[in-house]
Amino acid sequence: MEPIPVRVGESMPLYEYACLDCGERFDTLRAMADADQPIACTTCASQHTSRLISLFAAHSEGRVVAGDGGGGCAGCSGGSCATCH
Ligand SMILES: [Zn+2]
Repeated sequence: MEPIPVRVGESMPLYEYACLDCGERFDTLRAMADADQPIACTTCASQHTSRLISLFAAHSEGRVVAGDGGGGCAGCSGGSCATCH
């Protein structure tokens, strides 16, 4: 029997974006085809956002390098992104 390879995020990679208006950083799962489409800021709803380097590689090591131990979740520093409750 061959092991079934598990490739989490292969079809829906995690992309990180930064809002150019309020500085918020947030990440979202999107299809690769949509990666460069405009996305609204989760905080101020501005579409003036920029895609950052994918967190893909970081996730393969079991940790998110974007986290800095501050407030909020691993995906943001303000505790106000979609990943935070
Ligand atoms: Zn914003």
